Amino acid sequence: NEQIVLAKRPEGVPGDDVFRFEDTEVKQPAEGEVLIKALYVSVDPYMRGRMSDAKSYVAPYELDKPLEGHIVGEIVESKDNDFEEGDYVVGVLPWQRYIAVATNRVTKIQNTDVPLHLYLSTLGMTGQTAYHGLLKIGQPKEGETVVVSAASGAVGSVVGQIAKIKGARVVGIAGGDEKVKYLTETLGFDAGIDYKSNDFAASFEAAVPDGVDVYFENVGGEVSDVVLKHLNTFARVPVCGTISSYNNTGEDIGQRVQGILVKTQALMQGFVIGNYKDDFQAAGKELAEWVRNDKIHTEVSVEEGFENIPKAFRDLFEGKNFGKQVVKI
Ligand code: NDP
Repeated sequence: NEQIVLAKRPEGVPGDDVFRFEDTEVKQPAEGEVLIKALYVSVDPYMRGRMSDAKSYVAPYELDKPLEGHIVGEIVESKDNDFEEGDYVVGVLPWQRYIAVATNRVTKIQNTDVPLHLYLSTLGMTGQTAYHGLLKIGQPKEGETVVVSAASGAVGSVVGQIAKIKGARVVGIAGGDEKVKYLTETLGFDAGIDYKSNDFAASFEAAVPDGVDVYFENVGGEVSDVVLKHLNTFARVPVCGTISSYNNTGEDIGQRVQGILVKTQALMQGFVIGNYKDDFQAAGKELAEWVRNDKIHTEVSVEEGFENIPKAFRDLFEGKNFGKQVVKI
């Protein structure tokens, strides 16, 4: 039974030496457990944080233990009456081909009419992140301008589409022509701006003639520096992530924002999705409804093969993924 353990803590971009493939016995499920065959493994930017031992909101991965994250799998053996062979489940599970776990660590997937990998994206953790961050902190009103960075990605694409549902004007920031086109042509955003182009600051300014009421922050760094200059009075800035700094070896130094916050009386609030878990079910229903009615489109990048999990993870930091990155086992 193949598994991937954390061999060492990375410095900068995690190289191959950070991941060690091991072969172990398939553990037999005990009473109250199931044996799961991994079908889709999610790779997510936040995992970079767990690979280092700096204090954070989730415990670091342990050295020489399997890495873990959201996985969709199929039950191949059950020692719990509520779960049957052939049931599909999702949970935060170790990176192993076959996983024996207590059933309280997984959720049964009830609706299998949609592609299963959606439970790792819009109907899973990243969809929930978009939903709660935007609606609880961003609180977009009709006619307001909502800006989102990493806009074609798993979280960003859903943020922008929910903002459209709420009647906002949506401007997405992403890297490269193809992604920017996708924002307006497929996702229905009002504008898409390429942060890698030389005239990023000027084209962004032109795209927000009425300023920015909500900035859903996914990337930090220079993109953020440009956007924050255009905040309106009482703007809201849900700070979801700062992927541009995750592989930095030094300190992330940038502009100071206090002056902007005072001048605009804007609210900037970081959040961690786990803290909204009491609201997951209700939000999940609404997200599923939007997916069913084609109000939310989800793009997915599928990498094939257990051995390619580290590569798929690294690709996130180069924007090689288009939409949610998953690995099909
Ligand atoms: P994405 O699907 O958006 O993939 C990551 C994307 O980030 C890439 O495709 C790339 O898009 C962009 N990116 C990578 N490096 C840089 C860079 N240096 N500067 C600017 N953009 C970059 O990932 P997710 O949707 O899963 O995650 C988006 C953000 O949300 C991350 O910051 C993540 O940490 C955060 N997050 C936070 C949670 C929370 O609870 N607070 C929960 C889940 C996610 P492009 O090609 O456009 O550059």
